[in-house]
Amino acid sequence: MASPQPKPGILEISAYVGGKSKAPAGVKPIKLSSNEGALGPSPKAMAAYQAATANLHRYPDGGATAIREAIGQRYGLDPARIVCGAGSDELIALLTKAYAGPGDQVLYSQHGFLMYPIAAKGAGATPVAVPEIHLAADIDGLLAAVTPATRILYLANPNNPTGTLLTKDLVDRLHAGLPAHVLLVLDGAYAEYVDRNDYDPGIELASRADNVVMLRTFSKIHALAALRLGWAYGPPAVIDVLNRLRGPFNVGLPTQAAGVAALDDQPFVDAVKAHNDIWRPWLAAALSKLGLEVVPSVANFLLVRFADAAAASAAYQFLEQRGMIVREMGGYGLADCLRITIGTEDECRAVADGLTAFFA
Ligand SMILES: *Cc1c(COP(=O)(O)O)cnc(C)c1O
Repeated sequence: MASPQPKPGILEISAYVGGKSKAPAGVKPIKLSSNEGALGPSPKAMAAYQAATANLHRYPDGGATAIREAIGQRYGLDPARIVCGAGSDELIALLTKAYAGPGDQVLYSQHGFLMYPIAAKGAGATPVAVPEIHLAADIDGLLAAVTPATRILYLANPNNPTGTLLTKDLVDRLHAGLPAHVLLVLDGAYAEYVDRNDYDPGIELASRADNVVMLRTFSKIHALAALRLGWAYGPPAVIDVLNRLRGPFNVGLPTQAAGVAALDDQPFVDAVKAHNDIWRPWLAAALSKLGLEVVPSVANFLLVRFADAAAASAAYQFLEQRGMIVREMGGYGLADCLRITIGTEDECRAVADGLTAFFA
């Protein structure tokens, strides 16, 4: 008898590989591979998480009411148009499953987040990567790639792993050029790190358009990656679809509690942003001085280009042996680059010293 076979597309997935976290024995690891919060979570979020342990025997609120209301209040959004997920990863998977299937195409920018093609294949759809210009999404290229089979266009803005940003005008132009049946998903995982008045993470578009969804996460500036909490904001019809498809209790009780507390601790968020505003330019300058090309970033990480893939790989191993774990970029077609998360002051200094020693 033939063994059970998954649906077409599943075995074409190269499983997502997260940032590594192991250092050689006896070396304290410095993990700069997953764009996690440099300063750890808010003490208020930790306390709320701990307090929630008394109720671990209870099912969570399936409607995630308190956290949706807190998000709505924080950003001036209607909570009824918000749905929470176990990380934005879950929402990416659900949106893809809901709107794309066999014979359909899912567009994304060449160096876009790897979860987009993974989700597309998981839904049996065809992921289509559109080349970038100078490591930024190409609006005209994306529009030219739209076909009658296109169902979803994923755009991370700021983008991971490049750290580049599209202005609101450009995103509006992209949306204006899209057929109404294509769902534009704007992934603002790093939105809180941006302070430019020509940027919008998608709030305005997702408020007025029937085919735009914004995704956000608590994994980055709120530093709650372990808890898995993300949210989508969009038109009622799309939110309704997500609510039908998601698991009834997809976000855990301690996660919801910690999320509410994290949103309530704006001074902590401000401190994380202020830290990033100091140490991202510091690290960029230090690495530029070594002759490395540092892609200008608006997020909490830097994409750094080496002479070639061999040099990037050698630098990666040199750092790894000293306990510093950054991210190799071969999976993104950027094998000559490394991505480095902005860590604590000590971690930033350590990685700058490490690369200085590597080139010495
Ligand atoms: C980190 C990241 C996410 C967040 O994923 P979670 O599942 O919420 O942890 C989403 N999109 C991009 C582009 C990211 O870099």
